[in-house]
Amino acid sequence: MGTGIKYENGKLIVPNDPIIPCIPGDGIGPDIWNACKPVLDKAVEKAYGGKRKIEWLTVGAGEDEWKRSGEFVPQATMDAITKYRVGIKGPLSTPVGKGFRSVNVMLRRLFDLYACVRPVSHIPGVPSPVKDPDAVNMIIFRENTEDLYAGIEWDSNTPEANRLIEVIKELSGKEVRPGSSIGIKPISEFGTKRLVRMAIQYAIDHKLPSVTLVHKGNIMKFTEGGFRKWGYEVAKEEFGDVTIPESELTDGQAPEGKIVIKDRITDAMFQQILLRPREYSVLAMPNLNGDYMSDALAAQVGGLGMAPGSNIGDGYAIFEATHGTAPKYAGLDKTNPGSIILSGAMMLDYLGWTEAADLVRKGVQGAVASKTVTYDLARQMPDATKVACSAFGKAICDHM
Ligand code: NAD
Repeated sequence: MGTGIKYENGKLIVPNDPIIPCIPGDGIGPDIWNACKPVLDKAVEKAYGGKRKIEWLTVGAGEDEWKRSGEFVPQATMDAITKYRVGIKGPLSTPVGKGFRSVNVMLRRLFDLYACVRPVSHIPGVPSPVKDPDAVNMIIFRENTEDLYAGIEWDSNTPEANRLIEVIKELSGKEVRPGSSIGIKPISEFGTKRLVRMAIQYAIDHKLPSVTLVHKGNIMKFTEGGFRKWGYEVAKEEFGDVTIPESELTDGQAPEGKIVIKDRITDAMFQQILLRPREYSVLAMPNLNGDYMSDALAAQVGGLGMAPGSNIGDGYAIFEATHGTAPKYAGLDKTNPGSIILSGAMMLDYLGWTEAADLVRKGVQGAVASKTVTYDLARQMPDATKVACSAFGKAICDHM
């Protein structure tokens, strides 16, 4: 039953009964997925009165799958995502020392999901450590395939690290301390431009005021500095009619309908998100900066338990809970399913089913406003009613 999503001429073609692979994942993954699925089904049913329906296809990946089948990502899972293009997943654990870094990284590589996209905004009532969490309304586009995350590094005192130390001396005359470990940081024009292109297109589609390139180009001139340079280039070359660099503004005002392209040094940007969050909207950045800033911003609006995320490429997308497997709570029906549920709302937006996505967000806002929440929020909210993971899902459905 169900029909596959297609991708033609750079556009998704979504039927009314799309088949969507779902990976419940490890640890608390099945708990949060069991709470999430009925929420997404209810929102679609309520928004479209039965005209549209998702056909879920459960597939395996991660440590539990490895225990079952001896594979972290079985061929059937890869085939399903290849064929159906859009998927959703819970957290996955990778046992240490089993050959590769992470199942998540493997999925990103396999489908060239080059942008990690994380919207950050505050749900009123969610406890936050800052005075004005509602001032935060940003979306991060983090490059997913390059930078120090490319995984090119060698341990200290290996022949490879020692050889590189010699080559660096030959090429640059610079001395690297003997016995150092060495990591390589590639950042390309191609990788930067496709990421910044996606960020600018998002700003256009959602009528957002600015795109900020976040980099350490003052110190790492060719890698992070390259990111800044290529980011401005793609804005000018491909979106010159709808964007304007901040340096060309008069009195700090953007002409009507133009998106301002700005850049900030990463350390200064960590101050800006705390001190002047209203001045920022879409953020684009290399991998490592994005890793740090995603968690810092998520903390400002109440933590990872409620932070949605996705990994997006050209014609492929996987939506995911941003927290880990929290193994000590596995199977207890206790943890917060908010992250995967809000990622599900992002997925509905991505399919073009915005009415259903809005209902999911309305349900979450209503459940939080009524203070019917899981333990992690309840312990910080006076007079809250602490409920199980599945009951939080039901409360979300009741508030749609
Ligand atoms: P974690 O996010 O699993 O847990 C840290 C703590 O955060 C938990 O003990 C719990 O107190 C809390 N927490 C996490 N999710 C919660 C939720 N939904 N509701 C309430 N509280 C929640 O991080 P960790 O302990 O560093 O990692 C555990 C495992 O998860 C590791 O194997 C790691 O590799 C994996 N991991 C996977 C992903 C992913 O798949 N995207 C992300 C991070 C970590």
